Amino acid sequence: MNDQRENGGFNQRSLKALTDIVGRGYCRSHPIDLELYSYDSSPFIHYPWAVVIPGTVDEMAEVVSLCRRHGWPLTCRGAGTNLSGGAVAHRGGVLMSTTRLNRIVDIDLLEETALVECGVVNLDLQNALAPVGYMFPPDPASQKASTLGGNVAENAGGIKGVKYGITKHHVLGLELILDDGSMVKTGKLKRGLEFNEPDLTGIFLASEGTLALVGRALLKITPLPTSYRTMSAIFDSLFKSGQAVSAIIADGIIPTALEIIDRTLIAALEDYLHLGFPVGAEAMLLIELDGLGPELNAQLARIKDICFKAGAVGIEEAENEEDREKLWLARRSGNGALGRVKPATIVQDVTVPIVHLPKMLSLVLDIAERHRIVIAQMAHAGDGNLHPHILFDPSDGQEYVRCLKASADIFAAALKVGGTITGEHGIGLEKVAFMSDEFTEAELDFMASIKASLDPTGILNPDKVLPKKWQPHGGKGPF
Ligand SMILES: Cc1cc2nc3c(=O)[nH]c(=O)nc-3n(C[C@H](O)[C@H](O)[C@H](O)COP(=O)(O)OP(=O)(O)OC[C@H]3O[C@@H](n4cnc5c(N)ncnc54)[C@H](O)[C@@H]3O)c2cc1C
Repeated sequence: MNDQRENGGFNQRSLKALTDIVGRGYCRSHPIDLELYSYDSSPFIHYPWAVVIPGTVDEMAEVVSLCRRHGWPLTCRGAGTNLSGGAVAHRGGVLMSTTRLNRIVDIDLLEETALVECGVVNLDLQNALAPVGYMFPPDPASQKASTLGGNVAENAGGIKGVKYGITKHHVLGLELILDDGSMVKTGKLKRGLEFNEPDLTGIFLASEGTLALVGRALLKITPLPTSYRTMSAIFDSLFKSGQAVSAIIADGIIPTALEIIDRTLIAALEDYLHLGFPVGAEAMLLIELDGLGPELNAQLARIKDICFKAGAVGIEEAENEEDREKLWLARRSGNGALGRVKPATIVQDVTVPIVHLPKMLSLVLDIAERHRIVIAQMAHAGDGNLHPHILFDPSDGQEYVRCLKASADIFAAALKVGGTITGEHGIGLEKVAFMSDEFTEAELDFMASIKASLDPTGILNPDKVLPKKWQPHGGKGPF
């Protein structure tokens, strides 16, 4: 047992109590298991004392109740694709993996809803819906792995966000497990009250597992569009590609997707996928429209015109489904492809008003140059949501420090133009120190009062989202 565990009064009896709830094999404390669950998709690494993998929502609740009684920190984890250190056990304690809670309980086409357990993978839901002509619009690029519980807890966005909105626009109700293990329903899951109650569901979107755990969610599903038009536009300047995005939105067109990828990413993707991408181009805009055929043709012509006016040097239309799939495969493979440039990445997700998008893209280029690092840029550009991928080699400590300084500069630049430090990846551990830059004392006090009333002992995902001063008991916790 390491010191941390002894401090928490956590011992073999504790492991047995957890095993009694989840069953043999589903409470793990072997060093290899602890290692496996010590990281998410951010650079943060923290070891839990034990990993539990409940098989039902009731078991989840029993584990929460046990943690509360003993004052053990509890971190919930879906697929661990979090990019801001939200899914690591910062204080040790119990790490609860939701991967066995992967049942799609019900798809109701009349009500256009899907009731899911929190561990259902986003793409598994899409695959279940597509044959019946439906989709769940939030489609994070991590959709092959990320869970719907994780999507709710982070309020995930995605490629279709510009037209269809983000996770919060598609959650009708939640079944929640509170810090003492009791279960409550919000929103449409609480029949009869859905139209008049305060929007309690909304509080838990983007709450990052710090207020309650999501057991099940009732999601709004949407009919699949009947036609698509997809194209790419090549630019000799990142700034001009940003101007094209602002102009498309200002024209009143709402594409399904409007994504920018920059020179570094175009080259990395071509190296990885060999799709015939224009290596050497400064930026590529991926554009998709959906809706009814004739209307789409008119919008497409308009977009082409806008792109050429903004300085596009070439435009290519996807001629068939295969071409279209290739473009989206490329966009979804961006993160992995960048592994060819440097072994590790810090992914930022600042979001700015669309009018400032071109300037912000250029500012990120300047920041990379100033700190002598490589930043590859992709963006859910139609939302003003930038994804600067700050690339580094973990064996070069000085480079990492320069990357952290670059992150801080990116946050400051986004806030200066009225943006936010996170559009979709959450605060986690990474951005806690910057919360006071974005929110006033009164706003942080307000958030702290919600945290204190829902998790008074501070066991739920301690140290995340709120700075220490605003954590229950100043972050000291019962541990
Ligand atoms: C390659 C890649 C691409 C990505 N693309 C996008 C993108 O396009 N858009 C986007 O928004 N994000 C994106 N992300 C970030 C990430 O995938 C999302 O935040 C996703 O929603 C996390 O889901 P997860 O199941 O992996 O959750 P985890 O990473 O395991 O957890 C995330 C947070 O949710 C909490 N949590 C998990 N499950 C529950 C639960 N049942 N109840 C309460 N809290 C819970 C955890 O405690 C943690 O704070 C990307 C990440 C990667 C690695």
